Order: sequence, then structure tokens, then C-alpha cells
Amino acid sequence: MEAILKSNKLLNICYEIRGPIPERARQMEEDGHRIIKLNIGNLASFGFDAPEEVVQDVIRNLSNAAGYVDSKGLFQARKAVMHYTQQKNIKDVTVDDIYIGNGASELIVLSMQALLNNGDEVLVPMPDYPLWTAAVSLAGGKPRHYLCDEANHWYPSIEDMRAKITDKTRAIVVINPNNPTGALYPDELLLQIVDLAREFGLIIYADEIYDKVLYDGVTHTSIASLADDVLFVTFNGLSKNYRACGYRAGWMIVSGNKKPAKDYIEGLNMLATMRLCANVPAQYAIQTALGGYQSINDLVCEGGRLAKQRDLAYEMLSKIPGVSVVKPKAALYMFPRLDPAIYPVSDDQQLMLELLTEEKVLLVQGTGFNWHQPDHFRVVFLPNIDDLTEAINRVARFLAGWRKR
Ligand code: PLP
Repeated sequence: MEAILKSNKLLNICYEIRGPIPERARQMEEDGHRIIKLNIGNLASFGFDAPEEVVQDVIRNLSNAAGYVDSKGLFQARKAVMHYTQQKNIKDVTVDDIYIGNGASELIVLSMQALLNNGDEVLVPMPDYPLWTAAVSLAGGKPRHYLCDEANHWYPSIEDMRAKITDKTRAIVVINPNNPTGALYPDELLLQIVDLAREFGLIIYADEIYDKVLYDGVTHTSIASLADDVLFVTFNGLSKNYRACGYRAGWMIVSGNKKPAKDYIEGLNMLATMRLCANVPAQYAIQTALGGYQSINDLVCEGGRLAKQRDLAYEMLSKIPGVSVVKPKAALYMFPRLDPAIYPVSDDQQLMLELLTEEKVLLVQGTGFNWHQPDHFRVVFLPNIDDLTEAINRVARFLAGWRKR
């Protein structure tokens, strides 16, 4: 029998966060090694518990949750999301404009499947959260990566965005707060992106899943609040702000200039119905999560666990010779740079594999986030202070040894 090959659609797709190196780490664990994992933003596995009232709501409603519900989601959940859009100043959103999904991930894929014809282009940030690049490619589209500029707080370069627009471009993806850089974009920059979308008739896809994970007292603006003459699709969910990644509860909000998008919205509805509905038990928790005590604030405020871990990781990484890092304002990540003059790395995946083998620390290489050069890696600063300290000390020791080779 001939070899059974995977689809060509998967050829240019990567998802290294759970890729071959994490798989190698899993095997090493099976062999009895203890690996410190800084590869994945899974809060619960680092002792960041979901709010108790959220957990209790799922438990209490479990017996009502065995049936399919509306494809777009439970009314009460969508109503709560609608109220949230009002708090974020996103105008004219009705319950009908809101879709609940199995995490934002499902809806990201669905939104691209509904939009793209073969060869259509979408502007995606570089570095990116790699699902976006993958979702565009899987839908037959072509991701065009625009530069986020490390020398300018990792903000998107508007010039580069503009330079990448062609007559095939359909949309711009904006990840704010950003994974993997931890950047938070100022309103002036968001307005420039909106202007560009308006000028070229592009849709804005706004991934705002970290919009409450904010440090140093900064505030987040939803880009969809800045215009009503551009079509916006905004993503959020319970995974990060409410530390409930495993509940697989996310949502998508269509707002702004919906009139010309009637056909596209029909496409979204059709795909939503084809998958029947999202996981129901977790939908019961959405109203409680959004309306309840926002315990995330206790973690990100000065002296909060997440803020302390961010500070520690930033300080320790900055002290490693040849490593520089922009201090994140938001989210759970930083994206340090290895000075190529000191670390002439040609294969960053190999570098991460060597780090894992020698020091039992798991990180993801920068190219896993579609970064164009092998000179970055991503750090998840979720492990507790002791593990984080140990992990970064090991990274420093590994890099010192690597330089001497
Ligand atoms: N968007 C970004 C930027 C993320 O970092 C993640 C997960 O890490 C997701 C979306 C996926 O979120 P969900 O758990 O809701 O599928």
C-alpha cells in the first residue's frame, strides 16, 4: 500500500507550542526526568485556579447541560458577553452578533473558513500566535506577515502593514494584548490600523483574549470601539482572564459595519450550525465569570503573583549576557532576543532541543511564532518563583556553555 500522506494544506503549518520538542519533553518525563515547562499558557497547571464561583456554576448546571443548545450559544452567556461589549464601548452589538465556541481557537478557524477563497490574503502579525497563520492557510488563504517592531515596544509597523497590502488582501489580524511579545497597543496605533482598514476596505480580526491580564495599571482599548464604519470580529473567552483554558469556552463578536457583511455572516452562521453547538457546561459559567468578582486583578496588580513573576523573569533574563527583552505590559509571555553576534544560532529549534536535553527546561523557539530569524524564544512566566528562578538560571548556564563551544 502506498504511504498515506497528510493534506498539502498542512505543509506550511506549524504549531510548535505542542510540537516535536514538547513531545520529546513528554517522553523524558515518562523516563523519570523533571522538566520545567515554560512553553504553554495553561494557567491551571501552574496553580492559578479558576474563580470558585465559576467552577461551582459549571458543577451546578451539569445536569441541565446534556443537550445541544443554540448553535451560537446559550442566550444568558451571549447576553453577558453583550453587556461586556457595552463596558468596552463596542457599539450596537446584539445577542445575535455573538457566537460562543469551544475556545476562541474554534472560532478563529471558523471565521477564516467562512471568509477566504483560495489565494486571498490576510495580514497576520510577526511574531504571531501561530494558530492565526495556520487558520488562514487551512482556509486556503495566504498569510502575509507584518512586522511587530521590537525596537518600538513590539508595536506593529504601520508602514510594513501598508507595504504588504495587495488587491487580494481581505483582512488584518491584530493580537492585542499580544502573545508572544506581551505588548499592549496604544489607542493612536489602533486608530492608525483602523484607518488602514478603512482605506482598503479590510476586516479587522481582533484577538483580545488577554484583555484583563494587564500590568502597571495600564488599560486596554478594544479596537472595535474605535469605529463603526469598519467590520470587526473580536475574540475573547474564559481561558486566560478566568484561568479556565480547559473549559473550552470562548466567544466571537461581530460589530461595526455589518451591512455589507450579510453574506459573510450567513457563512459564519452556517459553519456554526454545522458543528451544532459549543461545549454546553462551560457556557453556564460565562455570565458568572463576566459579572462576578474579577480576581485576575489580584494577580496582576503590584505585588500580585503574576506581576511578581513577570518582574522576576524580566530582571533575570535581562541580566544574561547577549540577551535582551522588552518588558511586557500584558499577557503571560515575553519574547527575548539572542544577540546574533554572541549567539550565531542557525537553527533555533535545535537550540531549544539542546536546552531541553541538557537542562530539562522547555521553551518554544521564536520561529515557532513565525518569527523570521532564529534569534528569539518565548518564555511563559507562569511557574512559581522558585521554578522560574531555577529555569532561568538553567537557561543562563546553558547559553554560557553554548557560547564556549
Ligand atoms: N489567542 C491567543 C493570542 C492565545 O494565546 C490563545 C491561547 O493561548 C488563544 C487565542 C486560544 O484560546 P482558547 O483557549 O480560547 O482557544
